[in-house]
Amino acid sequence: MDPDARCPCGSGLTYGECCGPLHNGATSAPTAERLMRSRFSAFAMGDPAYLLRSWHPDARPASIEIDPDTRWLWLEIVRTERGSERDSDGVVEFRAKYRVDAPEGRSSGVQHEVSTFARVAGEWVYVDGEA
Ligand SMILES: [Zn+2]
Repeated sequence: MDPDARCPCGSGLTYGECCGPLHNGATSAPTAERLMRSRFSAFAMGDPAYLLRSWHPDARPASIEIDPDTRWLWLEIVRTERGSERDSDGVVEFRAKYRVDAPEGRSSGVQHEVSTFARVAGEWVYVDGEA
């Protein structure tokens, strides 16, 4: 993705200033919310490798399939609990709007989820989520 394009997570920053350095491993997320945003961007861009890498090793699936018909349009962070630089776990509630352009028709929706994050060896990872 073009580093000068707007980041898919909706931060208003460019991809190169925002989720890009997390995706390419140049830096790691300082907070659970940052990790959440970078995972949304990875969904939006179709980067399953990053999604797996940022998943808790005990909870991580063997593989992820990203539905090519689903487009992730925007992310809204509703609420966060802990998840700061000083914490070892955190919760992020978010709403993510998507659109499905399937051959059988078009639909759209909002995924509303409360996700749990933890820090493993200093790095924030996604544990699980409840829709
Ligand atoms: Zn971003």
